[in-house]
Amino acid sequence: MVFNEKWERRTFLGSLGALAGTLLSPRKLFASPAATAKPAGKISGFGATGNVYEELGVTTVINGQGTMTVLGGSLMRAEVEGVMALASLHFVSVPELEVAAGKRIAEMLKLPEGNTALVTSGAAAAMQSGLAGILTGDNPRFIEQLPDLTGMKSEVIIQKSHRNPFDHQLRSTGVKLVEVETREDVRKAVNPKTAMMHFTNFANAAGQIKADEWAKLAKELNVPSFIDAAADTPPVSHLWDYTVMGYDLAAFSGGKAIRGPQCAGLLIGRKDLVAYALLNNSPHEDTLGRSQKVGKEEIIGMVKALESYLKEDHQALNKEWQRRLEYVSAQITKVPGVTTSYNVPDIANHVPHMYIKWDAQRIPLTPREAGKALRAGKPSIVLSTGEEGEALSMNSFMLQPGEEKIIAENLVKLFKSHSA
Ligand SMILES: *Cc1c(COP(=O)(O)O)cnc(C)c1O
Repeated sequence: MVFNEKWERRTFLGSLGALAGTLLSPRKLFASPAATAKPAGKISGFGATGNVYEELGVTTVINGQGTMTVLGGSLMRAEVEGVMALASLHFVSVPELEVAAGKRIAEMLKLPEGNTALVTSGAAAAMQSGLAGILTGDNPRFIEQLPDLTGMKSEVIIQKSHRNPFDHQLRSTGVKLVEVETREDVRKAVNPKTAMMHFTNFANAAGQIKADEWAKLAKELNVPSFIDAAADTPPVSHLWDYTVMGYDLAAFSGGKAIRGPQCAGLLIGRKDLVAYALLNNSPHEDTLGRSQKVGKEEIIGMVKALESYLKEDHQALNKEWQRRLEYVSAQITKVPGVTTSYNVPDIANHVPHMYIKWDAQRIPLTPREAGKALRAGKPSIVLSTGEEGEALSMNSFMLQPGEEKIIAENLVKLFKSHSA
């Protein structure tokens, strides 16, 4: 396709304009696209300034906190925007597209035989539809009946320490969560009503039973296993590691580190279970998952995002993320009393993090107050204020080039203005 080589340098609107003008209609929706970063210059009315958020009076932020859904997740690569624009040019059977996209994703990830993928509206939707599929199979009456579980299995086993807000998506199918702690608890809990054994990957360290053992135990007890690994790339290998480990289903976010469409996620696993999940999801009507619509644009965007993600030089990226943190550290530790330290969480957001502390005698400011001041500043900067609010912390994998300089500058200003 003649457009391909240009996608990388063009932005979504520029591309859309070019395509619309070339393929769709003699009447150009946009004038010929700008060569560089100012596509919005060709838009009249809303969007004409190039900052759609500012036009609505909403402040954009510099994101030193990471892939938070509440901040918009992540920023898509230009080529993802490009294929989404291409996807918007045609009608297509969405179920057929879902199966074809899943097949392509399975090939790209080199999933073991018998596994495939489904693009969902997010990892949370993958959890709900994955479980719904296990409960209903391909029985149309059961699919229409959910969350009324009459005639179906009705319990999901989960370690107590693995309970988290996202298990709401499991509960939404009508199941009861059965909490366990030990291997013995699991064996006792399994009964004819047991539908699934759920594992929350970020809680791996907190639970007595670790990820690989959970999968093995589920196999031994003949219960389908599910792992929520939503935020668990990088490393990229996690996309297939858990399937190889023996999990029947796994969920990932598309709109976090993979940098796919914000409203996309992946359900990866057994072909039969993935097919049942799709039957419980949009575009199928009278289903629990009809409210979790995923569009043709997101499905196509997710395929591209994965292709790009797999090709990335992950080691170089990691180095760059660390370099940015070290830059900030070098600037702010010049202020007397300020110290920094680093950490990479084992699982979930497995990227360099930096903790920023200061001597409260010299700088009488709590981390929470510091976080608030940064957020209220111009530009607005979002860092984490830590679990107990005892330190400021940040990561740099969602920063735009150069933003580490702005963060350093504003932190120095803040600390200096509060120095006793
Ligand atoms: C982000 C997240 C989810 C939800 O993922 P979405 O793609 O936003 O739906 C589920 N579980 C965990 C552990 C997460 O971090």
